[in-house]
Amino acid sequence: MMPPDTPFITRQQGVLHVEDLALPEVARAFGTPCHVYSHAALGANLRDFQAALDAHPVGAGGLVCYAVKANSNLAILNLFARMGAGFDIVSGGELARVLAAGGDAGKVVFSGVGKSHAEIHAALMADILCFNVESAAELERIDEIAGTLGKRAPISLRVNPDVDPMTHPYIATGLSTAKFGVPIDAALPLYERAARLPHVHVRGVDCHIGSQILDPAPFMEALERLIVLLDALEKRGITVEHLDLGGGLGIAYRQGERAPEISACLLPLFDRLRDRKLKVILEPGRRLVGQAGLLLTRVEYLKPGSTGNFAIVDAAMNDLLRPALYGAWHEIVAVAPKAGRPKVIYDVVGPICESGDFLGQKRALAIDPGDLLAILSTGAYGMAMSSNYNTRPRAMEILVQGNRAHAIRRREKAADLYALECLPPLASTPAPPAAPVDGMDKPIASQ
Ligand SMILES: *Cc1c(COP(=O)(O)O)cnc(C)c1O
Repeated sequence: MMPPDTPFITRQQGVLHVEDLALPEVARAFGTPCHVYSHAALGANLRDFQAALDAHPVGAGGLVCYAVKANSNLAILNLFARMGAGFDIVSGGELARVLAAGGDAGKVVFSGVGKSHAEIHAALMADILCFNVESAAELERIDEIAGTLGKRAPISLRVNPDVDPMTHPYIATGLSTAKFGVPIDAALPLYERAARLPHVHVRGVDCHIGSQILDPAPFMEALERLIVLLDALEKRGITVEHLDLGGGLGIAYRQGERAPEISACLLPLFDRLRDRKLKVILEPGRRLVGQAGLLLTRVEYLKPGSTGNFAIVDAAMNDLLRPALYGAWHEIVAVAPKAGRPKVIYDVVGPICESGDFLGQKRALAIDPGDLLAILSTGAYGMAMSSNYNTRPRAMEILVQGNRAHAIRRREKAADLYALECLPPLASTPAPPAAPVDGMDKPIASQ
């Protein structure tokens, strides 16, 4: 049982491999749990987007800006940067990561509804490609900060086209009820305002309608609405150089689910833009990294319950939050299946003290304690949404290339988790002296 679209994750003599490396080797060398990624899959996914843009150069070409939040490991950012990608960031922290990974600030677009003063300042100093502005107040703030720096900030408005991407409500962002973007009816007056501001430079139009979208129709619907806006802007003498169509293209998480081909989804959109001299920016996240990764975990205990059986594994909701947060489905497979053994139905759960701590429910598996399981399609929003809940050190990250494994994030130790904490000086009981931590050593008098 494997979902489609995972040509770099295969079985060889029954044993699950990432590229040419058997997963039991990874577990032996690095322990579990760990997030394992295929270098070749990451590269192939980016190339698919770039090839679609190259095949249909829309006037001024295009740029793939990887949505960093899907998986922000430096090694992955570095790979994409070397392949010519830009980046879509949503925080100053992500800007710092992109720069640390060797990314080009001139290919960075900055999205997000709550850009702080410091984040805008940092992005202006780095000379990013474009701010995707999400409100009138943000536009004024960017103009003001750019003014103090003697710069002109490149901007797009993130337009909310009010289309339903038919995805999970938590990841639908283009509905009129969402906090994201500027309603498309309000965009024109705001563009006119932007065109008059002295320290911003109108560069483009931006939209992002949601995530895990498996039906291409909402993308076209959004584009039709954006074209109405583009025409209206042109009539008012406001020229834009690029159209940013956002990300959101989904992947098949579940056996039998089908994700549209990248080119099949994009080419009709580019075709609709054929006679416009617009550079196209895309912001894929999940589709670049999701199927390139899996979470490798070991069965700790098998435990019968009153209504079913539990397989308790060493990964948990802190390593992969999506099942607990959205009820998301990930395929779970035995790394080395046991032939001829009857399968038993398990809820695959972690050690965390929450009943919501499950990775999969009602899964048929033939397993024993100590066996390895792979939770598939976890490259996107897996490690990126991880936490240290229950003081669980985060899983290691491994990048596989051919038959070699590179550790791209070491396993956290418990001491890493409390390294930034310190004791107040007023403890009356003897306590080890605590070194002051930057920014935490100022006494605040209580009232
Ligand atoms: C999250 C996000 C993306 C990427 O979404 P995916 O579904 O991972 O492709 C792109 N653009 C913006 C503004 C986002 O917030």
